[in-house]
Order: sequence, then C-alpha cells, then structure tokens
Amino acid sequence: MMHNFNAGPSVLPKEVFQQASEAILNFNNSGLSILEIGHRTPLFEDVMNEARSLVKELMQLDDDHEVLFLHGGATTQFMQVPMNLLNEQDVAAYTETGTWAGKAIKEAKLFGHVEIVGSSKDTNYTTMPHDLAVPGTAAYLHITTNETIAGTQWHHMPYDCGVPIVADMSSDILSRVLDFNKFDLIYAGAQKNMGAAGVNLVIVNKNILGKVNRSIPTILDYRNHIKEGSMLNTPPVFAVYVAMLTLRWLKAQGGVAAIEAINNKKAEVLYNALEAIPFIKLPIAKEDRSKMNVVFTMDDPQKEAIFMQLCKENGMYGVKGHRSVGGFRISLYNALTMSSVEAMLSLLNEFAQKNG
Ligand SMILES: *Cc1c(COP(=O)(O)O)cnc(C)c1O
Repeated sequence: MMHNFNAGPSVLPKEVFQQASEAILNFNNSGLSILEIGHRTPLFEDVMNEARSLVKELMQLDDDHEVLFLHGGATTQFMQVPMNLLNEQDVAAYTETGTWAGKAIKEAKLFGHVEIVGSSKDTNYTTMPHDLAVPGTAAYLHITTNETIAGTQWHHMPYDCGVPIVADMSSDILSRVLDFNKFDLIYAGAQKNMGAAGVNLVIVNKNILGKVNRSIPTILDYRNHIKEGSMLNTPPVFAVYVAMLTLRWLKAQGGVAAIEAINNKKAEVLYNALEAIPFIKLPIAKEDRSKMNVVFTMDDPQKEAIFMQLCKENGMYGVKGHRSVGGFRISLYNALTMSSVEAMLSLLNEFAQKNG
C-alpha cells in the first residue's frame, strides 16, 4: 500500500481513479472513450456544465463570478492576469512570499509596475507578511494563499485592502472555507487539490475585465473564454472530466466546510507529533504554517537519510523536501486520508524512539 504525500501532481480519491479509468474505455455507456469524443457534443458539454456548477455551488459564488477551465497551468496565469488587468503605466500590488509569488511578480513586471506591499524575504520565507500597505491606486493586490514550496499559508485574508484581490490558490483551492466572492480573480492549477495536470481553474469577477488599454491576444482574453463557456478552442477534455469527478467527490464528502474540518485535524496531529520530537525542526512560524504542505528538517543529515530510506521501504511517497528547502515536505491535500497521516505518525514515532 502506497501513501502519496507528493506536492503535485498529487493524490486523488480512489473512486476518481476508478471512474476516470472506466471513462477511458467506455464513457457513460456511449461505447466511446472520453479521449475520442468531440468537445462540442452533449456528452462533453454535460461534463463542462457540471464542473462549472459544482465549483459555483461548493464555493458559493455569486453571479458576477465566472468559472473558467483553461489550459496552461497556473504559470500561464502569472502573465495572463496582468495582461488582462494591469495597464503599462499603472501599479499592481504584490506580496512576496516565496517561489511562487516570485514567479508571479516577475511576469507582472512585463506588463506594468509592481509594488511589493508585503514581503517575507527577510525571514527566508518562513513567515507570511501580516500588515500590508496597499495603495488605493493599485490595479489589484496579488497574493499566493499557500506557498507550496516554503510551507506557509495565509490564515487571514486581506479582504479589506480596498482594491480587487487576485489569488493564486493552486495548492489550497477548495481546502477551506473562504469568502470567495471577496476575491476578484482566483486561479489554481488542478493538479494539487482538484484533479489531474492539464487544466487550470480560473474564477473571475466579470466586472473587473475590459479596463486595460492594450490589445489582448484572443486566447488570452478572459472575456472570450467567458463568452464561449471555456470552449474557445478544444478544452483539456480529460483533465476537465477528472476535475469534475473530484468536485463530485468533494460534494459527497459534505463540501468545503466538511473537508476543512478533516484537513485541520490532519495538520494538527502531524504538527503536534513533529513538535514532540526533539531532533525535528519546524522552520515555519507557527501562525503561518501551511495545512497543506508540512515542511520540516532534522538536526542531522544522517538521520534524514535514514528516515528517507524508511519512508521508501514503507510506501511513503513524495516526502522529500523541495531542493531549495531540503528536509521533508508532507503534503496533506483533500484526498489524502487520515489513515495515511496515521501511518506516517507511527513511522515517525517509531523512528524517534530508535534515534532519539
Ligand atoms: C504548483 C504551483 C504553481 C504552478 O502550477 P503549474 O500548473 O505547474 O503552472 C503555481 N502556484 C502555486 C502556488 C503552485 O503550488
């Protein structure tokens, strides 16, 4: 039995794998594979419509917020966001909280001015900035709600910053209840918490669009995707289907509030266990710790090597820390079960007893 703690692509519910593989052979008893059907057919239109309405329902979105399924991963959004929202002479406010925020900042600078309104660079990204000074003239504020590599997460949203809020939620989308209507644009690559790689969820308040004075290439203009219902060109059919199945699963679990309660529990028991082991170091400030990506190191590289080997022998997959951080990273996405967390806990405790 494998326990998949990988940071992304990551674990999905077992039933999603089952259903997705059935659809490859015979989609909805059509006698056709999901991989060969036309995207402009009722067969697929039903999938797209259901995926869209599940997002609206699970996130309780109002009618101003449009739900899109796009290509290109979150990385494409790093440039598509400023291209659609930031004029060349204007300023966008960005928070600098780690690798992913840094990449978003780099792309925004290609389109306009960037003002860093909160940074955790001084702490080597082991904290989140708390007091943001956002100029009222900023086109928008961009935040990265969960820094997947550093292992930090925003626990208080800057809802009252006074300008439109744009959020990269790639690694904590649908993991906790937020006031999603307070965001004007949310984007997330699907492969961390809501499906397979190849599709991007974008939620945009349509009222903020159409205000830049540059020409936007057709495929990069959100308005065209809204008009065409995410079918401007061939959508990533299979990835949208897997996302839809995962959304169905989430609804069956009781929705975002129900999964949040489980996610809180998983993070709590793991952090508590790690804190109790003297040779383990948790680099992230307690109040800024991510509930999705738990990062830790050990006081001795030798111990780390032994524990890594132990993980391998016990089917604990994807626990190696990002190369820029070292140590370990245990990802606790929605589909990771409490029993996988418990298996990790026993391994950790057994290891601590032998090597303490
Ligand atoms: C993984 C990740 C990305 C990049 O996603 P791609 O789909 O690979 O482009 C961006 N932001 C965050 C927070 C991520 O975790």
